[in-house]
Formats: sequence, C-alpha cells, structure tokens
Amino acid sequence: MSETGSSTGISIPAWAERVAASLGPGPHVVVTGISPSGNIHNLREVLVAEAVANALRARGDEVRFIFHADTIDPLRKIAPGIPEHFEEYFGHSLSRVPDPEGCHESYAEHFLAPFEEALREMEMDIEVVRSHELYETGVYTGVIGEAIEHTDELRGILQEISGRKMPEHWSPFLPRTASGRLTGARVLEHVPEENRVVYVDEDGWEDAADYSRGEGKLGWRVELAARWKALGATFEPFGKDHTSRGGSTETADRMAREVFDYPVPGRYEYEWIYIKGQGAMSSSKGIVLLPKDLLGIMPPDALRKMMLGRDPARAIELDLEAGFPRFMDEYRSEAGKPFVPFTHLVTVAQTVGDYVNTAAEMLRRGGYGEVAEDEDKLARDLRYARNWAAEWAPESMRLGLLDVEASGEAAAGLDDEQRAYLREVSEKLGPEMDGEAVQDVLYSTAIGRGLKPKRAFAAVYTVLLGKKSGPKAGPFIAGLTPGQVTQRFSV
Ligand SMILES: [Zn+2]
Repeated sequence: MSETGSSTGISIPAWAERVAASLGPGPHVVVTGISPSGNIHNLREVLVAEAVANALRARGDEVRFIFHADTIDPLRKIAPGIPEHFEEYFGHSLSRVPDPEGCHESYAEHFLAPFEEALREMEMDIEVVRSHELYETGVYTGVIGEAIEHTDELRGILQEISGRKMPEHWSPFLPRTASGRLTGARVLEHVPEENRVVYVDEDGWEDAADYSRGEGKLGWRVELAARWKALGATFEPFGKDHTSRGGSTETADRMAREVFDYPVPGRYEYEWIYIKGQGAMSSSKGIVLLPKDLLGIMPPDALRKMMLGRDPARAIELDLEAGFPRFMDEYRSEAGKPFVPFTHLVTVAQTVGDYVNTAAEMLRRGGYGEVAEDEDKLARDLRYARNWAAEWAPESMRLGLLDVEASGEAAAGLDDEQRAYLREVSEKLGPEMDGEAVQDVLYSTAIGRGLKPKRAFAAVYTVLLGKKSGPKAGPFIAGLTPGQVTQRFSV
C-alpha cells in the first residue's frame, strides 16, 4: 500500500515516495543549503527536500530537516543591485559584510531574512542554521581536524577529478587573516590538540587560527563532504550544475567515502526553472522570482505545485502571465472543493476593490455562494487576484467593471445590431436570475435575433469590461445589481 498523505494532510507526490523508498531506515537528516550571496530564489531545491522529508515522516521515520545557509562563505562577486565598492569585501564572510541597504545586521541576513520569512509563511517544518554559527560553536571542529590531517588525500582527489594541479601549499582549511579575508593565508602547521593551525598571511606575518571557534572555514568542495558527516546528512537534493561531471558532488562523494569514512547521502537531481519570456532563473543575471512575491499571488500549496511541477527532475517553464489563471483553476479543482474561476475573481476584485462584503454579495448572486461563505479565505483569494492583475496580467486580462461613462465611450464601437441586442437582454433580465439563467438569456436572445453569439458576447464584454472577452458572462452579470446592468446595456 502506498502512502498518499502524511498525518498533517500534506499530499506527497509519487516521485518523492520513490526517493524515500530508496533511502534506508531512519532516523533521517535531510539537508538543503544555499549561499545568501544575493536574492535567494531557489525554492525548488527546498521544496524537493521538503517533499522527501514529508514522505519519510509519512512512513513513520524521525526526520531532521535542515536549511544550511552558507553565511560563512566569502563574498565573491557583486550581485545585481549591490554597489561596486562592495568589492572591498571580497573574501570576507557574508556574515561579516555590512548590509548593502543597512536594514539588517549583515549582508547574509539581508538576503536570508526574506527567504526565511517565506519559509515561515509556507509553514515549512524546517530548521534554518547559519554556517558561521556552526563553525563558531564547534559543530565542524572534528571534521576540520580530519580534513587537515588528510590534506594529501583531499588534494589528490581534487587533482584527479579536475585534472588541474593544486598549489603545493594547498590546504582544505582557509584561516581568516587579520584583514578579515578567508583567501590570503598559507597554512604552515596543524596543532590538532589545540584545534589550531599556524599560518602566514598575505603580508608574510605568522599567526594562528582556532578552527573550533570559527576562525576560518573549509574550502567549499571539502566542506560539502565534511558537512554531510558533521550534520549526519542522509539526503540532499542538488541542481544539475553540481552533479555534472567534475562538479562538486563528484569530489564530495569521493571525499566522503575515502577520507571522512561517511556514506554518501541519498540524492535527487532537480532541473532548472525557466520563466516564460526571460530564460532560466539566475540570480547573477537578475532573472529571479522571489518567494515572497509569488506568495502574493497564490497560496503556499499552489506555489509548491507550481515550483515542483509533475516531477522536479524535469525542467519547467513558468507562465505567470496569460497562463496563470488556468494554473490556478487546475490547482483549485484538484482540491476537490467548489471554487471561483480565477478570471472571475480578478473581475470581481478589480470591480469591488477592498470591499470583501460586496465581493461576497457579487459571488452569491453570480452562483458562487458556497465560496463566499468563508470571508477570510475570500479576502485572501481577492488579494491574490488583485496582485496578479496589478503585477502580471496582460492588459487584456486586467478585468474590472467599467464606470458608466467609460462604458458609454466603449459602446461607441458597437453596431446597431449589437446595441439592439443589449437593450433586449436588459429588458429580459430579472433580479432573481442566477448565473446560468442569465447565460441562457444572453445566448437565446442572440440566436433569436440572428446575431452570431461571438458578436453578441463581444458587445456584452465591451460595455461591461471594455474588452472583447472576459470571464463567463452569465455569472458575472448575475453578480451585478440590476441598475449596474441597465445603465450599461441601455445603449
Ligand atoms: Zn537589509
């Protein structure tokens, strides 16, 4: 029997169940990590890890789910929007570089905080750890000592896989020198009983660094393998840039087995996310969708569905513009509860502004009474629709009821047949009619007059919305007051 839901009612995709089935018995430590060197957009990685963690929890395993923020990593390049003079901090830990906008305690926190906030909003059961704190509290002390003792083997693995000769004085450990940089020192000696290395800095001065107190870090490729052991990782997803030949997982896998004597954690390779009309998401190119913006147009579970796709091993292209209403309708219909089509919500939201009561009334009259009962949920749905219309909707889908004057101006483009049609419809509509009844009147009146339905409905949308098309007309018109309809149909 296969599990389809956890105790919290979260549904678990089939691919995640397969991954969980391939992992050994628990307890499990699921790790995902990102460097906060710029806007953090890589929600797909975290969501892959979350789905697998949930699949493991659903089968009864104990799971620790860790987001490893690489806050001790050195600043390497200038992210889009960061002042050029931040070059002076190249080589300094992100946790020790000032916030470019001055609102957080560090550069790392500036980019980590909004991401952490989004994870909270998604109610993710995840533990966010900062790597500089792990180094400072001694979590990495044992693996650093081991790495330094096995410098030659680690260097050998790097050389074999990269095909490049490493410098003679290469060390897996990068002490932080007096300048604050992690990049300028040459390690001379290891004093394991004191967790210390002696090094010579950029200017030729000799000094010592205590690696049990965060006075330096492991180089990235070594750190990956060492981290698995230090955290006890049993599963970590990777993007294809890491898993390609010569990539960081190839070196880390060998280092884990041959040096750290630690089994390589289970893995899942996920593909890129492309944004329609822009290309692959990339923080260095500034092509990003920030989780907090996406949560402004859809609920957390819709965002999970969107980011993961059917299987995250496949690339997807996100369409947040014309294709978004269809995505939202699919998401709502999968939930199996009654829902309002998204374009209808957009029209209601743009018509009533912030007035949830008025929106509820419109929806009730239009035949969506069940959905209008939960006003908190309705208020959220209206906010999603309004934000989408403002930020993403193509002009043709920015739908709201025209005021009477604008409707009169729009009606100038209609011919006599269309005007006569609207007047006849207006006389036939009654306040007691529901959406389906209105839809019948719209259709049968067109047929009765020998007017093609397409031209008839174009007339309706023109005087109501100023567009050639819109949401299903019957329920929308039923949602309006009789006065609103008469004023716009008396052309
Ligand atoms: Zn800030």
